[in-house]
Amino acid sequence: MSVLVTCTRCGKREAFFFRRTSGEALCRQCFVKSLEMKVLRTIRRFRLIEPQDRIGLAVSGGKDSLVLLYILGKLFRRRHLKCSETYAFTIDEELEYSKFKLTRINVIRELSREAGFEYSVYRISELIGVSVPEVYSGLSERGEKIHMCTVCGVLRRKAVNVLARRLNLTKIVTAHNLDDEAQTAILNVLVNDVKRFKWFGVVTGEDVEDLVPRVKPLRYIREEEIAVYAYVNNIPMLERECPYVRENPRYMLKFLLSEIEQRNPNVKYMIVSFGDELSRIIRTSRYFKEKIRLRRCRICGAPSTSDVCRACDLVSRAGLLERYIDAVRV
Ligand SMILES: [Zn+2]
Ligand SMILES: [Zn+2]
Repeated sequence: MSVLVTCTRCGKREAFFFRRTSGEALCRQCFVKSLEMKVLRTIRRFRLIEPQDRIGLAVSGGKDSLVLLYILGKLFRRRHLKCSETYAFTIDEELEYSKFKLTRINVIRELSREAGFEYSVYRISELIGVSVPEVYSGLSERGEKIHMCTVCGVLRRKAVNVLARRLNLTKIVTAHNLDDEAQTAILNVLVNDVKRFKWFGVVTGEDVEDLVPRVKPLRYIREEEIAVYAYVNNIPMLERECPYVRENPRYMLKFLLSEIEQRNPNVKYMIVSFGDELSRIIRTSRYFKEKIRLRRCRICGAPSTSDVCRACDLVSRAGLLERYIDAVRV
């Protein structure tokens, strides 16, 4: 026996998605529209993209960044949004796993073209002088046990900053979703580092000189809905899990959060909103102003909370500073 449920928005078509966070039953059209409008509202409310902006969208090839590229393209075409320049780029970390990602380049290139973004692929060693596996092996040879995801994340962030300067970007757009952000908030708690909440938010780095702000239009959308959106719009989901993901602490949190979500459908929003409030307190408090003193990295000159920034620290501990330094110096 199947019971047809009518869409609670249009009251006409058959519902296909039940949104537990709001209690709505949505048809395909209303679901797609609601998601796009939510992205647009987030962009407008927090001024994530403005007419004078030169934006760069980091496309990993995963469903989140492809969906974001697709939605932004649609919003620009319909003139809901305007900006001065639109770039999309993929960073090749030069890992064995990156090769798989690069087999998707044609799909990304085609989506970028449709969305009106100029698209390029950059080898990470071309941007910062060293590759992720090089730094990782350098560290391992010296007996330093640092997780591949940490090395990859820190170096990729550095590479994006170098690229942003090269392209003269005013904003870096990332595809972080609600699940990513809720996980980040919990991780900050688990490592007992409240200071990290200073960089928690829909916009980060806007108040730091020589840093291009990061903005996150998908931040209030659950990962599941992004996957459903990709499916409905035939956005290819050729995603292959990163081989290092299982040792990543986020992996465990993913399951924990979805378990809590069964009983509390809004838990991810609650956690993110808690983090945002904490972030506001930290950004405005005098106590933290003294605790989080931004200075310049002694090696590269980039803004950093410690004497040496994380990228320079990893590269120098891997013994690879020489090739790297000229590429990254601010
Ligand atoms: Zn409907
Ligand atoms: Zn540095």
